[in-house]
Amino acid sequence: MDSNDNLQDLVRGFLKQHTTYDVLPVSYRLIVLDTQLLVKKALAALMQNGIVSAPLWSSQDQKFAGMLTVSDFINLIQYYYTHSSVQDALHDIESFQIQHMRDVEKRVGAPAPQLLSIHPMSTLYDASKLLVESRSHRIPLLDREAETQTELIVSVLTQYRILKFIAVNFQETRALRQPLHELKIGTYENIAIAKKTTPIIQVINMFVENHISSVPIVDDENVVLNVYETVDVMSIAKSGKYNELDVPVGVALEARPDDFPGVHTCTLNDTLYSIFSTIRKRRVYRLIVVDQDNKLKGIVSLSDILRYLIG
Ligand code: AMP
Repeated sequence: MDSNDNLQDLVRGFLKQHTTYDVLPVSYRLIVLDTQLLVKKALAALMQNGIVSAPLWSSQDQKFAGMLTVSDFINLIQYYYTHSSVQDALHDIESFQIQHMRDVEKRVGAPAPQLLSIHPMSTLYDASKLLVESRSHRIPLLDREAETQTELIVSVLTQYRILKFIAVNFQETRALRQPLHELKIGTYENIAIAKKTTPIIQVINMFVENHISSVPIVDDENVVLNVYETVDVMSIAKSGKYNELDVPVGVALEARPDDFPGVHTCTLNDTLYSIFSTIRKRRVYRLIVVDQDNKLKGIVSLSDILRYLIG
């Protein structure tokens, strides 16, 4: 057995000993949106609470109705960019309910929203496996009320929370000392990149076509200048500036909110141990792998790390 198998076995064993409840903080806030809510209000609620997704509840059916995520807004933006006028877009957004947004998504041919969920007493291993297999970044925890059997949305478990839990509690740190160039975690070929001058709509198309959540912005020498992320699309949706999708991504990034957590980089000499210390301290979703001249080498996203550990 080599050390990789050993690490994966140890992590899997660790995740099988814990349930998703173990990851939840003692006290937390959960924002659930009704599918009859106007998209405009849903956006405002997300932004006000500093979140980028929320579970949906259909009060008509008294059932969980999937998640509202940034992908929904990306589908909406793509639809309006290709099919409609800005005037129509603005008018529709004013009067649109979340449930109608799904109709637009159907028309665009977007994949049907997943109704994936897991019971909170499931092990972290099962939850991680489901996240990896479904290529999701988050999964709602769903229970049932004892008497009425009505569905109960308990919380939403994210890749970040699981990896942070491992980073804080996994004791076998010796097993984490191998560098990235040996582990080969992440993507190092065919990386979707953009220049500062690339129009935002082209970057949005890259998100959809490649099923990715970020695109590094590089200069002519391939030096990493920034990263445009799917969450950045939320500010376009919020401001309703659908007519600014031809604006260069460099200009859009200048208007980023002050609380943007920054771009995190690492090198091929970094280990899972050092990546986990970053995850412990900061809310990172990906690390951009660079060489000593800050030139782009690859991307290690949380999904890559989770997939590697779960095997
Ligand atoms: P993510 O959306 O960050 O969870 O990434 C999903 C998968 O796509 C992971 O295997 C990443 O390594 C890979 N990936 C992320 N961003 C890019 C990109 N810009 N170009 C190519 N692959 C990427």
